[in-house]
Order: sequence, then structure tokens, then C-alpha cells
Amino acid sequence: MDRRRRRRAFHLLLATGSIMALVGLGWGVFFAWRGEWPVAAMELAMASLGVGVIVMARLRRPRAASWVAFLGLAGVLCFFSAFLDVPTEQVPRTSHVFLLVLALCAHHVFRDEKPWLRYALVGALMALFVVFAAAPLQAPSSLAIADEVRRVGIWINLATAMASLLIVLRLADTDIAEHRALHRALRDALSQRRFVLFYQPQVDAAGRIVGAEALLRWQDARRGLIRPVDFMQAAEDTGFILPLGQWVLQEACRQLAAWQATPALRHVRLSVNISALQLRQPDFVQQVEDVMARSGIQAGALTLELTESVLVHDMDDAVGKMRALHAMGVRLSLDDFGAGYSSLSYLRDLPFSEMKIDRAFTRGVVRDAHAATITRNLLQLGRDLGIDVIAEGIEQEDQFALLGEQGCRLFQGYLFGRPMDVAAFSERIATSP
Ligand code: C2E
Ligand code: MG
Ligand code: MG
Repeated sequence: MDRRRRRRAFHLLLATGSIMALVGLGWGVFFAWRGEWPVAAMELAMASLGVGVIVMARLRRPRAASWVAFLGLAGVLCFFSAFLDVPTEQVPRTSHVFLLVLALCAHHVFRDEKPWLRYALVGALMALFVVFAAAPLQAPSSLAIADEVRRVGIWINLATAMASLLIVLRLADTDIAEHRALHRALRDALSQRRFVLFYQPQVDAAGRIVGAEALLRWQDARRGLIRPVDFMQAAEDTGFILPLGQWVLQEACRQLAAWQATPALRHVRLSVNISALQLRQPDFVQQVEDVMARSGIQAGALTLELTESVLVHDMDDAVGKMRALHAMGVRLSLDDFGAGYSSLSYLRDLPFSEMKIDRAFTRGVVRDAHAATITRNLLQLGRDLGIDVIAEGIEQEDQFALLGEQGCRLFQGYLFGRPMDVAAFSERIATSP
């Protein structure tokens, strides 16, 4: 589960922060007791960095916490190896061995960063290790720790470093095993038809259902209904989103065709979420065309929802495909507008028929004057550009009323219905005003 991986990363950060704080404090007190103040200050600085890492992890800033921990530890280790743990004829240097441990940690912790950055970090740490191990860096330093202390220190250092290596290897193993198990579970779920589409109503200003958004659910015998937050990232990472997304598209079009054959449901439009990886497939447009032809739906009833992440990667490729889809009559919607690096030029230059205002704005629209100003302006923008604007995440009557006054004509949110299975959705439509 993605959630389990995040929890493990959180605990890893807490553990790193705690070790930095405790080790720093322990040695800090020891060196202060010996009167070696500069060394003690260095150790206490590391202890405060450790506290910083814990605080940031608790504030749910894992990326910042990882960077502080990483840069802090790398800095401390280099300083220690260069000026404190100075090798002599009798006692070798050992602090630099931790650079290898840190390299392995960085390889694991920064796996979501860009590959070049991740390998540059690992490579830089290894290069530093080589320098400290091979170069005769014996700069006479007034800070150098006495041999009598270092003679004991080498045993402690090497034992701790090897134990840390084991822990990191074990964590990486667990991660790989879980990743594989999740991928296998996803594949089995698809072949055993355990994915279902839920439908969330989209309504007009009078509260009439005019459309639905198809939202994916995984029905697991043991864990019950699983929402996309818990598997979508893994599906993206493993490329499984491609067969899964293809299934979603087929299933949605099959459902749309069934609705179009039912008089009471003929007018209902259906929106389908498309991930960046799906759109990047060279034959994506052809896939959509085939699925539509096979199901026999009217193109104008199908909306594909894209987020900005789709556009930042390879804009030219995305634009070409979007124009082709638009030419086929498929509507395109810009999902979660305002949540990311929303660029107005996307709306101006690309063939979008709809913009979905993210919940981040609709949530606060009644109490927060800034949010209300933003929604009013987005609605005006939609009118100027001639595209539909739909407000997502409407939970309360007063949000519905205020956005209605601002000129919003389309809404989606728990107030009008949570995502529900197809039987419940048909029933809901039968009782819709
Ligand atoms: P999204 O496309 O922005 O979908 C809206 C999400 O907000 C849905 O979460 C929906 O259940 C939730 N929501 C709707 N109204 C309210 C409300 O009033 N209050 C609150 N708190 N939440 C509301 P869900 O179903 O968990 O889906 C999460 C995301 O997963 C979707 O965000 C979409 O990005 C992705 N997703 C879902 N199904 C698919 C799919 O078939 N393919 C792809 N590629 N992504 C999907
Ligand atoms: Mg969506
Ligand atoms: Mg959305």
C-alpha cells in the first residue's frame, strides 16, 4: 500500500532524527566534559539538526526533512573526517565509513527524485569516501581527537556503520517485496474483475443530474473497498496504469452506451480520469477512437479529465493528441485547476471544453474572501474563454448558493452524492429533480 510506504518513510525519518539527536547529545556531553569545546559544539549542532528532522517529519514535510537530514549528516561527516578523526600511524580514520551508509540511504530515500539527482548524490558521497580513504589527508588540526579516544572509537564506529548498513538493506528489501506484492495484487484484481467504477453525480444550478465522474475502486475480499489514494501511485510507478486505464475507458464507455440506450439517462455525460502515462502512449488517440467505435457512444457525451501533470512533461506531444481528441468530438476537462502550477495559458491555448475548480478553493469559499475572489475570477475566465466551469468538492448548501450567485452552473460534491455504484446511481437519477 502506498500509505504503508509513506508511514515507513515517516518512521525512518523519526529514527534518523532521533539517532542524530541522541548520538550528537551523547558525544557532545562527552567532549564538553573533556573540555574540547569546538568538538562538543559540532556534536550539539548535529543534535539540533536531528531535532529539526523530527519536527519537520511531524509537520508532514518529509521531503524537507529528508534533505535537512541528508545535507546535515553529509556536512557533519565530512567535517568530522577532515578535522576531528585525523589518522595517525597508530590509529586509522573510520568516520568516513558512514559516508557509504549515507550513500545507500540516499539511494533509498531519494528514489522519487529525478534519477540524475539521485545518482549524483550517491556518486558524490562515494567520491568523498574514496578521498578520505585514499588521500593522505593528515592536515594537522588543533581539533584532532586524541588517539586514546579514537582507538575505542574505531570499534564503535565500524560496528555502528555495519549495523546501519544491515538495517538499510533490510528496509530496501521489504520495500521491493511489498512493491512486487502490490503489483501482483493489482494484476490479479484486474484479471479477477475486482475493479469497479463508481459514479459521482455532476449537477446543474437546479440540482438536476447532468453527468457523472467515473471513479475507480478496488474491491478486495479482505480489505473491502480501496480508494485510488492507496494504489494509484503504485499503478503509475509500475506502468500498470496502462492496462488499468484501458479497462476504465472500456468500462466507462460500455456504461455510457447503456445509459444512452435508456431514455431517462440519455442526457447524462460521463467524465473519465486519464493519467499522464496513458496520454503519453503513442497510440492513445487510436485507443480512444476504437473504444468509442466499439461501444457506439456519441463522442460529445464523453469527457476526458486531465491534470496539469499531463502537460508539463511533453507539452508538444500532449497538445497534438488533445487536438486530435477534440477533433473527434471528445470533450477535455482540466481537472484540479488551481491545485498545482495552474497556468492560464493551458486554458487559452489548448482545446479544453471544461475547467474543474479544485476543492482547495470551493472548500473555503464561504468563509474566506480570497477564495471567493478566486472562484469569481475563474468563473469569469471560463465565460471569457467560452468553456464550462465545474466546482468540485461541494459539501454544503451555502457553498452551492454562493457559487451559484457567482454564476457557476455545474457542481460536483458530497452534497449531491458521493461516488456510488451503478445501481445506486440509476436509482439516484430516478429521484433527481
Ligand atoms: P479527482 O479526479 O479530482 O476526483 C475527485 C475526488 O474527490 C474523488 O476521490 C471524489 O471521491 C472526491 N470528492 C468528490 N466530492 C467530494 C467532496 O465533496 N468532498 C471531498 N472531501 N471529496 C470529494 P477518489 O474517488 O478517491 O479519487 C481520487 C483521485 O484518484 C481522483 O481525483 C483521480 O485523480 C484519481 N482517479 C480516480 N479514478 C481514476 C481512474 O479511473 N483513472 C485515473 N487515472 N485516476 C483516477
Ligand atoms: Mg477527476
Ligand atoms: Mg479533481
